[in-house]
Amino acid sequence: MRSLLANAYVVTMDDEGTELPAGWILLEDEEIAALGEGAPPKADAVSDLRGSVVLPGLVNVHHHLYQTLTRARAQQADLFTWLRELYPVWARLDAEAEYAAARTGLAELALSGCTTVFDHHYVFPRGQEGLVEAEIQAARELGVRLVASRGSMDLGESEGGLPPDELVEELDAVLADTEGLAALHERGHGARVQIAVAPCSPFSASRRLMAASAELARRLDLRLHTHLAETAGEEDYCRELFGCTPVEYLSELGWLEGDVWCAHCVHLEEAAIERFARAGVGVAHCPSSNLRLGAGVAPVRQLLDAGVAVGLGVDGSASNERGDLFLEIKQAMLLARGRGGPDAMTARQALWLATRGGAAVLGRQDVGVLAPGTCADLAVWRSDGLELGGADDPVAALVFSGPHRVDRLFVGGREVVREGHLVTADETEIARDHRRIARRFADVV
Ligand SMILES: [Zn+2]
Repeated sequence: MRSLLANAYVVTMDDEGTELPAGWILLEDEEIAALGEGAPPKADAVSDLRGSVVLPGLVNVHHHLYQTLTRARAQQADLFTWLRELYPVWARLDAEAEYAAARTGLAELALSGCTTVFDHHYVFPRGQEGLVEAEIQAARELGVRLVASRGSMDLGESEGGLPPDELVEELDAVLADTEGLAALHERGHGARVQIAVAPCSPFSASRRLMAASAELARRLDLRLHTHLAETAGEEDYCRELFGCTPVEYLSELGWLEGDVWCAHCVHLEEAAIERFARAGVGVAHCPSSNLRLGAGVAPVRQLLDAGVAVGLGVDGSASNERGDLFLEIKQAMLLARGRGGPDAMTARQALWLATRGGAAVLGRQDVGVLAPGTCADLAVWRSDGLELGGADDPVAALVFSGPHRVDRLFVGGREVVREGHLVTADETEIARDHRRIARRFADVV
């Protein structure tokens, strides 16, 4: 089956920054067969996308889907206070709730143009099973790509950690479960489900677990992820407990290698940025979440100038209630400008973070770019509505006036969103089911 998308403003995000103002894209099965301008090739089906901009599907590199169940809590709290308030609420999580949460979070992301999602799941209440499997099921049903993680916490309050003792696990159990889930990891071009190893943070995972996780990830050839340098409080914690900065701590644990990416990295000194660049460690920048928790502003311009791969994350919906990756593109641009002036980041550089940057952070070459042979993951945006009127650069205007609901979304050539609505699921039903489950979490705070 060859289908043609014609008459669109195509933004390829290739190395040369090629844009095709009167472009066409030929899809064949799950891939892009060809793209160009001028007379299009013959196809079995043709869609006229006049008045639209086509971007690669967006890539979200940090999220906690379960948090859609607990929005708008601890509204004025900093990270540690927020976590302490929410841990006991999250202890109610089970597979049914995780499924409902993932469907909601993944649907929100799809409607914001996102085709590949990384989820950092680290809450495993005792006796609960099938949590990661539940979110994988939700992603398969919706038709989006998921990099799920077997996260973990083993450092409870009684041992100097932040989470309550009843929410932490035994190290051996964590490693065994991670190894079991690794069987679900797909390799190579077009992978739809992948698994990463992701102990939660230096203040909730022990030194032993951090080191053993890195060892396991390398033995199983999986990528490795954690939260790092999110707040000044975390830096104080590391200095007090380990006598060094969070990045020095990671270095001691053998983490600083090219298979690692870290979320936030708000508080990085110049030397740490250089270390990340030399080692090939990537960063998940989460602008709205960092602002919501008053964590600070990540040095994204400096990271990019040093050659660090930076992607964007919405982060969990308890610290960024709007799970819209297009909003994060705009936020990243505005935040970079707030820190470094109006030329600190262009609209196209911000789009790069959410496409090529995200793909690089996840170690993928088959998504985040429109080129022959890459996955047919495309986001189609209307550029003829009210909010883009008068704009002579539809690409920059899209970013400046964002966020927007995506008009059409394709993942591996399959249509997931059409005319701004999910094709593969019923949005109203997802919301209704989610509201029913979320009540279980509402009476605790
Ligand atoms: Zn996070």
